[in-house]
Parts: sequence; C-alpha cells; structure tokens
Amino acid sequence: MSGAAGSIFIVVAPSGAGKTSLVAALLKAEPGVELSVSFTTRAPRQGEVDGQHYHFVSRELFERMIADGDFLEHAEVYGNYYGTSRRWIAERVAAGHDLLLEIDWQGARQVRAAFPEAVAVFILPPSLPELEKRLRGRGTDSEEVVARRLSEARAEIALAPEYDYLVVNDDFERALGDLRALVRTARLRAAQQQSPVDAILAEGVSA
Ligand code: GDP
Ligand code: ADP
Ligand code: 5GP
Repeated sequence: MSGAAGSIFIVVAPSGAGKTSLVAALLKAEPGVELSVSFTTRAPRQGEVDGQHYHFVSRELFERMIADGDFLEHAEVYGNYYGTSRRWIAERVAAGHDLLLEIDWQGARQVRAAFPEAVAVFILPPSLPELEKRLRGRGTDSEEVVARRLSEARAEIALAPEYDYLVVNDDFERALGDLRALVRTARLRAAQQQSPVDAILAEGVSA
C-alpha cells in the first residue's frame, strides 16, 4: 500500500481557554501539521489577516457556499457563520498531510461523522474564574461578547466527555507538550505508516 492518508486533528475549546495560542505554538513545534483556514462572516479582529487567520466573507457569499455544498461542516457561533472547506480537507488529507481544525463543538460533530478516525481533542480551562480572566485579559471583545461567551462556556465544557482526549490548559508548556504527544502518537498508528513494513519486507532474508 502507498500514500496513507494523513490524520485529522479536531481541537475544540470554550472561547478563552487558550485554543488559538496553543494551536499556534503546536504548529510551530510540529511543522508537519497544517492548519485548516476557516471561512467566517465575523469581522476581522485587530491583527487578523484574511487568508491566514480566516477567509473573511460576507453573509451572502457564505450562504451561497452552503447552498453549493462547499463546506465539510459549518455552524453559527455567537451570531456568525464559520465553516471548513470540503475540497481543501479532502485534497490535503488524501495527499497524506496531517491537518488541524480549530472549530466549535457543532462542527466537531459533523467532521467526526464524516471522518470517524479523526482525533478529537477538547481543551479545558483550569477553572471558570480563570477562563473569565483570560477572556477579559485578551482585550479583543466587547463586554457583551465576553458575557455571552462565558455563559456558553459552561454548556460547552459539559460536552468534553464526548472527545477522545482532554487537555487542561493550566500550565501552557505542559498543555503544549500534551498536544505534541497526541500528534506524535497519531503518526505512529500502523495505518499511517505502511512504508517501514514494505521496506523491511523488500529487503528479503539472507539466511
Ligand atoms: P476564539 O473563541 O477566540 O477561538 O474565536 P474565533 O472567532 O476564532 O472562533 C469562534 C468559534 O468558531 C470557535 O468556537 C471556533 O472553534 C469556531 N470555529 C472556527 N473555525 C471554525 C470552522 O471552520 N468550523 C466550525 N464549525 N467552527 C469553527
Ligand atoms: P481561545 O482561542 O481559546 O479563545 P486564546 O488563545 O485567545 O483562547 O487565549 C485567551 C487568552 O488567554 C489569551 O490572552 C492568551 O494569551 C491567554 N492564555 C492562553 N493560555 C494560557 C495559560 N496557560 N495561562 C495563562 N494565560 C493563557
Ligand atoms: P472567534 O470568533 O473567537 O474567532 O471564534 C469563535 C468560535 O468559532 C470558536 O469556538 C471557534 O473555534 C469557532 N470556529 C472558528 N472557525 C470555525 C469553523 O470553521 N467552523 C466551526 N464550526 N466553528 C469555528
């Protein structure tokens, strides 16, 4: 067999748990993992670059893309649409690349239904007061948005047991180490690496 498909990692967390910071650090530490750039109708935050953090699109375009079946999954989160390109995922995973999807819980369920072998990870904050502190500390969202995200966080945390792995983001470096361990473990799965078996058998036996 040749051309094993790559792994799909789904990372979910309540807003403010540190998902974006952890994923950025993970991609740096494990350069073979590629991030899926989502489409969204949310306005860019300060410093966010179109095509890098998100593909920022209008509601009209997003709705046309839904109708055209362009999304592997999509969901409405805090009043904005978010979605993952079906074609990009299919092409990159078939080419053997490891992909990471930073999506919400609704999207995670849709992706797991399409790719049951995907590795689903939930990032937990150490506590709700700490989550609130981080959300406010980030300074990117209005008071109204922070309040809404906090009230959603409880319900989202209750869904954590449906994931394959839980990572608590208390000490950042430790949580990063946990994520790296998951990536490395997935790469060791037999289905990901037929080539060493082929190489050993191709050599034959001399005795
Ligand atoms: P964050 O809470 O700071 O990560 O804020 P974002 O605006 O970056 O993300 C908002 C929500 O949309 C988060 O729950 C993301 O995980 C989710 N999200 C991002 N991209 C996607 C996607 O492609 N599909 C789905 N279903 N959710 C996404
Ligand atoms: P999310 O993408 O889950 O909404 P962010 O990555 O934006 O979360 O993190 C929210 C805030 O918390 C940021 O200001 C970030 O710097 C901070 N943060 C992330 N991880 C930790 C940690 N382990 N300890 C303290 N602060 C953290
Ligand atoms: P934010 O607006 O703070 O960037 O993201 C809010 C939420 O939307 C986060 O929980 C994030 O994971 C989620 N999100 C971002 N992109 C997608 C996506 O493509 N699909 C889904 N379902 N959720 C997404």
